[in-house]
Amino acid sequence: MSLPEYADVYNNFDPAALEAEILDGRLDSGLNVCHEICDKWASDPQKVALYYEKDGGGEGKLTFAELRDASARFANYLKSQGIGKGDRVAGLLPRTPELLIVIAGALRAGAVYQPLFTAFGSGAIEYRLERAGTRLVVTDPQNFPKLNDVKGCPPAMCVSASEAGADVADFYATLDEQSAEFEPVQIKGSDPFLQMFTSGTVGKAKGVAVPARALMAFYVYMKYAIDLREDDRYWNVADPGWAYGLYYAVVGPLLMGHATHFNPGAFTPESTYDMIRKYKITNLAAAPTAYRLLKANDHVLPEGENLGLRVASSAGEPLNPEVVNWIKNRHFCPVKDHYGQTETGMTCCNFHGLSHPLREGSMGYSSPGHRVVALSEQNEEVGEGEIGQLAVDVKSSPLFHFDGYTWGEKDPFVNGYYLTGDMVICHGDGSYSFSGRDDDIITTAGYRVGPADVESTLLEHAAVAESGVVAKPDEKRGSIIKAYVVIKSDQATSDDDSLRDELQELVRRRLSTHAFPREIEFVDELPKTPSGKIQRFVLRNRAKDEVEA
Ligand code: ATP
Ligand code: MG
Repeated sequence: MSLPEYADVYNNFDPAALEAEILDGRLDSGLNVCHEICDKWASDPQKVALYYEKDGGGEGKLTFAELRDASARFANYLKSQGIGKGDRVAGLLPRTPELLIVIAGALRAGAVYQPLFTAFGSGAIEYRLERAGTRLVVTDPQNFPKLNDVKGCPPAMCVSASEAGADVADFYATLDEQSAEFEPVQIKGSDPFLQMFTSGTVGKAKGVAVPARALMAFYVYMKYAIDLREDDRYWNVADPGWAYGLYYAVVGPLLMGHATHFNPGAFTPESTYDMIRKYKITNLAAAPTAYRLLKANDHVLPEGENLGLRVASSAGEPLNPEVVNWIKNRHFCPVKDHYGQTETGMTCCNFHGLSHPLREGSMGYSSPGHRVVALSEQNEEVGEGEIGQLAVDVKSSPLFHFDGYTWGEKDPFVNGYYLTGDMVICHGDGSYSFSGRDDDIITTAGYRVGPADVESTLLEHAAVAESGVVAKPDEKRGSIIKAYVVIKSDQATSDDDSLRDELQELVRRRLSTHAFPREIEFVDELPKTPSGKIQRFVLRNRAKDEVEA
């Protein structure tokens, strides 16, 4: 089957036609997101919304019809508590059917669903609940105790409340008392349906309310970048406690009437492969850190085994070319890099569902409905070969849906552009390569070096699992490049010095002589956000402290 040309789809993109096709043109007149992701698909009682792996093994299924009924019961409970349109309802739940019921039920009631990642401690939970003025938290016995330490905690509801010894409403017992009829509450395209917080990679997490019109952009991403097809088995490994998981493991696939998959527990290479085998996954999405971990544990996958993946997608951090090659060789499938933010959803992608040239190390082209550009420090669009800040040209981006931060953090809009805070190389053909976050770019001896390139090059060495590259202050050069490197567990060496030499030589030879890390420190692990992103500012501070010490 030949794919549509990217340029044709991009240039002829018609938002009104898309709205008519997928939302019956109801963004202005009113719609309900639960209707769009659930009721619409519930007439066939067999149609599955969720396949999930039960804790301790065993395959579970939740149909769209079951989700419709359970979400109506939950919405009735919300109503009985005086919770409705615009109110924040949080889920502090692992990847279980209850999570899906809470999301769908909140949306059915016109409320705004707020994810809380299950690895959060009470401080992180408190910060988010307090800011959002959340009205209800639904949790489970594992997470319930954290709420005891949350100051001003709103009322809670707990799955298996008696097991938790919790004197709060039990989730299923309460649902059983409610009617399975609930007329979905209508909201406008400009009304929020999700209350997000950014990952907090460079500081405090910022609040982002996502309006219902974002459904259009979510759909475009699923269709063209993920290329979700009817006969695909789709698994997005990302946790719905974060944007990529909530937007594209839950809302996106269900919006297309497509089943999604949840696995329990933490990510391990073994459990990932078991899940792919068991559910015959053909379409996989995950963060680069997951792919890097699979690669670092190459021995887990039997030589020559073909798991049957058709396509794989990566988002959230740079996808290193070395990982792309490894997946091609070991999984016989293409993996493509997609760029996005909590604020905007995915705006720049290599599209599995469209035909366009692929450039190694690039995160691709503007998504249909968006126009991304690179801006100079004077906020002028730069040309081929130049580095600039990635920005969205708002006027030329009908699917752009970010309205600004919920609680007045710095204004990211300048001259009609939304500034992403990320630096990219502009290739002049509409594609961009990620260079680093604004603050992560290193200036050494007058040159600007992006950490992404150096880290990708280090990964070419067989012993390297991952690395974080930052600037370390230096009297002579302003700063030098320092790499914190994690060695693969089966590659431990007693000769750090010769490995250091090899790595420096590798970067000199493969990347450039001015970009080689003058200092390399071997570490057991890198500082990461709860969602698994490398926090270079922590490394940068560490490097600075080393100088001052
Ligand atoms: P915070 O804004 O709180 O510091 P964050 O920016 O990590 O956290 P997210 O919205 O989860 O929060 O992540 C968006 C950021 O992730 C982007 O701005 C970019 O820095 C990075 N990112 C996303 N996709 C890619 C990609 N494909 N390649 C490189 N970086 C990416
Ligand atoms: Mg950010």
